[in-house]
Amino acid sequence: MKKYIYADNAATSRLDDAAFDAMLPYLKDNYANPSQPYSFSRKAKQALKDSRRIIAECINANPNEIFFTSGGTESDNWAIKCFASADDASCVVTSAIEHHAVLNAARNHITLPVDNHGCVNPEILSEILDRPHDSEKTLVSVMLANNEIGTIEPIQELAAAAHKRGALFHTDAVQAVGHIPVDVKKLGVDMLSASAHKFNGPKGVGFLYSKNGLLRSFHDGGSQESGLRAGTENVAYIVAMAAALKTNCNTLQMNTQRLLETENMFISELNKSNINYIRNGSPNHIPGSVNISIKNSDGEMLLHRLDLMGICVSTGSACDSVNTQVSHVIKAIGVPDEYARGTIRISFGKYNTPEEAAEIARAISKICI
Ligand code: PLP
Repeated sequence: MKKYIYADNAATSRLDDAAFDAMLPYLKDNYANPSQPYSFSRKAKQALKDSRRIIAECINANPNEIFFTSGGTESDNWAIKCFASADDASCVVTSAIEHHAVLNAARNHITLPVDNHGCVNPEILSEILDRPHDSEKTLVSVMLANNEIGTIEPIQELAAAAHKRGALFHTDAVQAVGHIPVDVKKLGVDMLSASAHKFNGPKGVGFLYSKNGLLRSFHDGGSQESGLRAGTENVAYIVAMAAALKTNCNTLQMNTQRLLETENMFISELNKSNINYIRNGSPNHIPGSVNISIKNSDGEMLLHRLDLMGICVSTGSACDSVNTQVSHVIKAIGVPDEYARGTIRISFGKYNTPEEAAEIARAISKICI
């Protein structure tokens, strides 16, 4: 098989070995439906219980506040749509740089601007919430970390501002969970979305943290997930998700250290050439996340030239890859036109090495000089 350097971990990440090993027994031997009353179901039922507890511990929640879903998109849609159904007088306030799973779910939302680093200002949120409005209830949804530029948002302050004005707070933490410490109590959020494949778990499984009493049933069917999310649970993938999250949380400090070294190696190697570029995002970002805009370049061209060299990076968000326009995030942070089209995202993960980072930087220099 051709050897790739994979540096698109914000799009998806390699399955952790411990997660792979943990799920196999539930695909082969313990395949029972966890809802059945016979003893053969016991192991599957116990596995769901254990996974819920492990995940809850990783984010300082209670197990009964964890609801399994099919991933980040479903978690975001559930949080927003169950709050803002078309027939009631509700209002959603969200940032200009959210993932489309939030932006498109919250159709008639009020948009919070971001600064040049991609940060939402809690004072602007307070000012917007203080304006007179007709809605009876408000949900604020701001992501914990952005998927394109990695910026970490001041969620604690934003959630406090929302609560002070009687609004609920949801955060899309898909890029953050398993990468930075996440404590729902410290953050003060009411709901939080996560997706396993972003933290070395399998694709197609995730969870929604929600304080009790906020969620309404999203699917019609059986009584799984406390009657709130019908459908037979994907036990094997849920077990793998819990194992992956536990591994990442246990090695968070070590991974962070290595990812910062990897990022620094990339930047210092890139700086050896005379490429005219700007780095997007904030100093407070997800470890391993690098987004650069190269003057008078073309991100699509770069991506394909790098692909020919066996290097995987992204132009914007992977979920957006058919769209060749400048992304809404790059527009929102005001990257100048002559740089914006030359934007690429390099997102390192725990399996990348500083040597690979240097090789990517040298490849970009070779293409651009
Ligand atoms: N939210 C963010 C910030 C993301 O980066 C993504 C995926 O790229 C999603 C939501 C959607 O997650 P999933 O792919 O699990 O549906």
